[in-house]
Amino acid sequence: MKNNLTTDELAKIDQLENYLIKKTNHFFGYPVTFDFDYSCLYKFLKYPMNNIGDSYYEGGSYQINTHDFEREVIDFYAQLFNAPENDYWGYITNGSTEGNLYALYLTKRLYPSGVVYFSEECHYSIEKNIDLLSLRSEKIKALENGEIDYSDLEKKIKENKTLPAILIANIGTTVKEAKDDIKKIQKILKIHKIKDHYIHCDAAFCGSFAQFLTPKPSFDFSEGADSIIISGHKFIGSPIPCGIIIVRKSNKEKVSNYVNIIDSLDDTITGSRNAISALFMWYAIKTIGKEGLKSKLLKCLKLTSYTFEKILNLEVKAWRNPNALTILIPRVSKKLQNKWQVATHGELSHIIIKPGITKNMIDKFLLDLEKEFKMDLALLE
Ligand SMILES: *Cc1c(COP(=O)(O)O)cnc(C)c1O
Repeated sequence: MKNNLTTDELAKIDQLENYLIKKTNHFFGYPVTFDFDYSCLYKFLKYPMNNIGDSYYEGGSYQINTHDFEREVIDFYAQLFNAPENDYWGYITNGSTEGNLYALYLTKRLYPSGVVYFSEECHYSIEKNIDLLSLRSEKIKALENGEIDYSDLEKKIKENKTLPAILIANIGTTVKEAKDDIKKIQKILKIHKIKDHYIHCDAAFCGSFAQFLTPKPSFDFSEGADSIIISGHKFIGSPIPCGIIIVRKSNKEKVSNYVNIIDSLDDTITGSRNAISALFMWYAIKTIGKEGLKSKLLKCLKLTSYTFEKILNLEVKAWRNPNALTILIPRVSKKLQNKWQVATHGELSHIIIKPGITKNMIDKFLLDLEKEFKMDLALLE
């Protein structure tokens, strides 16, 4: 490294690298992949790239961008999600939080009197975004498995029958990786003759692979979704968090906003937008593609079954939703949470088997889990 950093500063950077290596090898609690390699794109870090504006808009006076790449990424996911060929639009966000914000903002403009129905198992960004936008909302109970409670949803929809219904469906809840069924949701809307409705699918983690599951969850555009968000740094993998939001173009165009200074449309939440993520996501779809996502999924499913069986063999009460890569276990100690970055919620901890996790890491984790569990048993005696 040619620069004028002091020896101490150089050492600090080296320490960071060692720290990151260690932590990445002990990373079970989050749905974030780490088997990516974008090193051939490092040369692009020296340009002041910015995807400000709408990448589909012809024009735009800020031209150091990767709009072309961004559009290809949107096209790829629009196809994966069966979006209508001439009626989709999207952009690369900073993550699913921003995507959820964008979708809710869109629904606020489309249906100002709408009520947002969201389950108690939704990611915390939903409630925050509802608060930010001052939206009317109803929190819906969740079933034991984490799925939305359809009968509670029906009850609340009935109470607000005259108002537009904005539904947040989870395609993989954050804690239990439960998937809501938008076919069931639409049945409820139909029975109660809700004319104006909008379904947003929060598919932060599972969106990248859910189309390859058998049975396939109902969540895409052909099945009634009006928008879908996925996180780019979760199943696909990226050193910079990002998200991909796809909406119906006809909806987005109803609320579009031209801005003179950039000679483009200001239809995104942030003005300046990270252009390197678009390039990373483009590289991922070109090198991994549909087939790669599918084979990564199959590999993860196999490893998840392996891990699940092993945990059950330890007589630890483990549980998982069908086809989920998330395994729930009774709350583990702070020590284990810290060592393996295990996410914990109340009485439950969970581990997630995503690309990058190896059998070797799993076996090491299982040894620690076994030790801890045996100690608990000893204490009981
Ligand atoms: C992780 C997650 C989010 C937030 O995604 P970020 O990309 O971290 O902003 C939203 N919804 C669900 C269901 C998630 O699991």
